[in-house]
Amino acid sequence: MIEQYGWSDLLAEAFAPHARAGHTPGRVVLQQRDGYLVITDRGEVRAKASGRLLHEARELGHPAVGDWVALSQNAQERTATIHAILPRSTAFVRRAAHSARGLQIIAANIDVAFIVTSLNADLNPRRIQRYLAAAWQSGARPVVVLTKADLSNDPQAQAAEIAALEVDCPVLLVSAREGVGLDALLAEVKPGETCVLIGSSGVGKSTLVNAFLNEDRMATQAIREADDQGRHTTSHRELVLLPGGGMIVDTPGIREVGLIDADEGVSAVFDDIERLPQDCRFSDCGHANEPGCAVRAALESGALDPDRWAHFLKLKLESAAAEERAERVAKDAERRRLAGLQKHYRATKRNNRGSRD
Ligand code: GDP
Ligand code: ZN
Repeated sequence: MIEQYGWSDLLAEAFAPHARAGHTPGRVVLQQRDGYLVITDRGEVRAKASGRLLHEARELGHPAVGDWVALSQNAQERTATIHAILPRSTAFVRRAAHSARGLQIIAANIDVAFIVTSLNADLNPRRIQRYLAAAWQSGARPVVVLTKADLSNDPQAQAAEIAALEVDCPVLLVSAREGVGLDALLAEVKPGETCVLIGSSGVGKSTLVNAFLNEDRMATQAIREADDQGRHTTSHRELVLLPGGGMIVDTPGIREVGLIDADEGVSAVFDDIERLPQDCRFSDCGHANEPGCAVRAALESGALDPDRWAHFLKLKLESAAAEERAERVAKDAERRRLAGLQKHYRATKRNNRGSRD
């Protein structure tokens, strides 16, 4: 059952100490004000975080949709307590305002982030770059999706324009209306993987989700409205299975994800690693051959998993590169804007002169 939701040998390994404590694994499929809905091998259970976990939430964040958690079943059927969150492979994170509430995890363990933008609105490279940066920082692999291809005179040219930004990821064209390109999109999400759709309002995200799930759009909306009124609806999930064996996370919060600050995504997933260098003897330790290096010590003792360390370094590099790219694109756009203004200014001056003469 939980294999369908992406449970793997790697997760089972991380779960071993919790299994010894008699806990069972589950994945959070819905976060509500008063608790969570968690899928387990015995079906769905309602669950609440333990006091200790809430206490730790300042550093780890609360459990979020997509999180793998360790549960104990309560005597009363179908309710459970969440004791621990398994290490996240990726996370979309927002630092709560004034940091009083600490980290806010929007979604965890997302493999693919579809960055959705529509071809009828102005293509905004800066916005795409922001979403791309957010995706890279979360650890998910981005895929740019250009929707409403049916409304564009030359969708291929527009796709080429985006590809020319060196986005370093696939750029796909779709039309939900004509049912074009949906299979290619689904093919990006391998069985056991989880995706999200991020992008501005109105670009066609809900339409895509509904097309994937072959759902009636109105029905989905009705359920959402009921939720807003605090009514209990059992059919609403924020993490659902896709036909191809993958999953999709669709939460209101994920849509504003482009506003996330740089670097924080990496920090939330690798908090422990980020703190390690504080224990290195030299403040500018390169973690190579320096004596008294805490990182190398952790790697040698097995306290730090080499794969996680490699992943951390890779994300740090990608995050820096994404920022550099975003910066460069922003500068280019600004230069073009100024050039345009200048041209406009000269033209107006010419015209004014012309009308005076
Ligand atoms: P969201 O806010 O990103 O979830 O956007 P919606 O899915 O609600 O779509 C916004 C509007 O765009 C709706 O009126 C849709 O019918 C329309 N739309 C979505 N996909 C397409 C498409 O492929 N082609 C056209 N022509 N319209 C689309
Ligand atoms: Zn070091």
